[in-house]
Amino acid sequence: MNSINSTKTPGLYIHIPFCLSKCPYCDFYSLTSVSAVPDFLDALFKEMEMYRNRFNPIETVYIGGGTPSLLSPQQLEDMLISVKKNFDLISDPEITPEITIETNPADLSRSFLESMREIGINRINIGVQSFNQKVLDFLGRRHSVKHAISAIEDSRKVGFHNIGLDLIYSVPAQDIDSWLDTLKQAVDFSPPHISCYQLTLEAKTPLGIRYRAGEFLIPGEELQYAFFMKTSEFLEDAGYIHYEVSNFARGKEHTSRHNQKYWNHSPYLGLGPAAHSFHGNQRWWNHRSLDQYLAAIKGGNLPVEETETLTMEQLRLEALYLGLRTKKGISLQDFENQYHYDLFTEKKKILAKLEEEGFISIQNGYLYPTQTGLAVADSFSLI
Ligand code: SF4
Repeated sequence: MNSINSTKTPGLYIHIPFCLSKCPYCDFYSLTSVSAVPDFLDALFKEMEMYRNRFNPIETVYIGGGTPSLLSPQQLEDMLISVKKNFDLISDPEITPEITIETNPADLSRSFLESMREIGINRINIGVQSFNQKVLDFLGRRHSVKHAISAIEDSRKVGFHNIGLDLIYSVPAQDIDSWLDTLKQAVDFSPPHISCYQLTLEAKTPLGIRYRAGEFLIPGEELQYAFFMKTSEFLEDAGYIHYEVSNFARGKEHTSRHNQKYWNHSPYLGLGPAAHSFHGNQRWWNHRSLDQYLAAIKGGNLPVEETETLTMEQLRLEALYLGLRTKKGISLQDFENQYHYDLFTEKKKILAKLEEEGFISIQNGYLYPTQTGLAVADSFSLI
């Protein structure tokens, strides 16, 4: 059993900045040439040494990207050995460290999956995105529906219990029925965790450029809202808790412990290009370009591009914004203890208005987003 109090222990994020091909909607930093992987890993291990024991005990390790599953099992094993050499993974009979890898279904051969289990990875996120081949083709994914199905089945067979599927909705040419069909197929596998992300088209990505050239339409606001609400309704009916705007779990014990650290101001250390870290009132982030990252480490420096110190007011606003993205909501007393601010009194008028309009509810000392509130959670930054 995982203790709820464990959420304030630190998490470690490792960014693998490589992908075998670039998806046309993706704005993340990643390179399609893998020739620099060995240099990157050497630098990453040095970066771990630079932070040695500064974030102990680590409760969660999240290997994300990019596409971590394009690394070899040996490279991933070396990475975890380096993690254990430089940090203490939490050791508590009640808390098992959560060690997650993000994967592309095309990489998940049975032997790769077996190796992941053997080296101690206990949570796998599979980037299924859709069970509709046309949607996968539109998204320019390098895996097929067939890959996705065998990846899920084989993950189970090799002993992964904690499996998460990532899906994308609001894709052009996808209507609600075809999206519900994807959700149905996902639920048929009964994965403990499902993330549903709305497709966003960033201006400079190839899909963003094609959209601006008028090649296709994207769902308008009303349809996007309908996608969101149908998703929530469908998955809740299927027994999932809609615990964060984009995240669903088949029970509290299957929520992503790592992601919760981002939402509740727990400390986390991000390693690798473009990775962000947070501790106390400090946030810092690494150089986005691999070359700059490698050069900094070669020169014996942390590859940090910038650091910001958050004021109490900024921390408060973030906590409010992030808290209202989670079903757990915000405990008014905890908020006051941590941020020295009586939210209920100070924001009385606006909270009453949001409650009247059906976006939040205030009960038993907690501020909760309603389903409608979750759908428009991005605009809560304006409170
Ligand atoms: S695999 Fe993921 S990180 Fe890589 S290009 Fe595609 S969406 Fe971006």
